[in-house]
Amino acid sequence: MSTTQMPMNVHAIPSSLCVPDTPDGFASLLGDDDKARDYLLSLAWPTGDTFCPRCGHRKVYTLSGERLRCASCKYTFQPFSGRWINNGALSPSEWLRLVSLFVDECSVHRMKEQLSLSYNTVYKALTAIRFAILAHAIDARALISPATGLDSYLKGNRLTGGPREMRMDTIPVYGILRRDDLVFIDLVPGFHAETLFHFHMNFHLKLIRTGNLVYTDRYKEYDALLFCGNDSLPYEIIRRYDEPPHIDAVSDDFWEYAQQRIKRFRGISCQRFPLYLKELEFRFNNRDKSIAEIIAAYLCALVPDLDEPTGVGR
Ligand SMILES: [Zn+2]
Repeated sequence: MSTTQMPMNVHAIPSSLCVPDTPDGFASLLGDDDKARDYLLSLAWPTGDTFCPRCGHRKVYTLSGERLRCASCKYTFQPFSGRWINNGALSPSEWLRLVSLFVDECSVHRMKEQLSLSYNTVYKALTAIRFAILAHAIDARALISPATGLDSYLKGNRLTGGPREMRMDTIPVYGILRRDDLVFIDLVPGFHAETLFHFHMNFHLKLIRTGNLVYTDRYKEYDALLFCGNDSLPYEIIRRYDEPPHIDAVSDDFWEYAQQRIKRFRGISCQRFPLYLKELEFRFNNRDKSIAEIIAAYLCALVPDLDEPTGVGR
């Protein structure tokens, strides 16, 4: 790399820095903002070479402060511009401590106390974490779309939007698929809460309701379909059954893992529901891995450009 050709100076990004090989590993970064920052920079720029997050051009100039400028499109940016981690007012070590608490599934209340941050700050940062996880799922493009309503949270590459109103005929339906040791929670195209009520009334598809969460018996290749409703739905038409649906009847390690967590989903809105489903999928499929490091890397990835057919993902 020629320094004249590529005069980037993101505090000399260490090209091979990963989690320090100490007994504490990730934990050793939590109390040190400089180390935490170097670690996050190494995740954002793994080879140490910068490029423009807007056009991908590789010639980038350093300006004063931490700003960088693309030699081609003149876009001025910061090392974390356009990335999930750019949503939220946390310091580098606060981000890593939040990731650590998230891995341990602490309550928002506990996180806010541990980090001495406001509820809103923690909540927004957690939304960024959940979006970052979802954005790395193979079906991310289908999920951050008008079909789920998640697209309304994103304005360009920033999470500054909010939920869109949802009703019976727009609330999306998700399906649980098992393949060997993995689970996939898909958006079922063309299905809405209304579809399941229709199948229930006219084709005897079993529906089970727990709070605003409704799930079904086995349906085609899915172990269950499910949606999170709101107060506009006619839950009273759901009949009771003596026989449990497939997913409750079989002894399934995913469903056992999911059930206790899904119970906590009751307070979640139908708009945010897919974020929690994909978090569940991610946690289960990576249950034997150190997910703190994976989440940190996801947070440092670029927010995909949803207007582009293939996305950024460079
Ligand atoms: Zn550019």
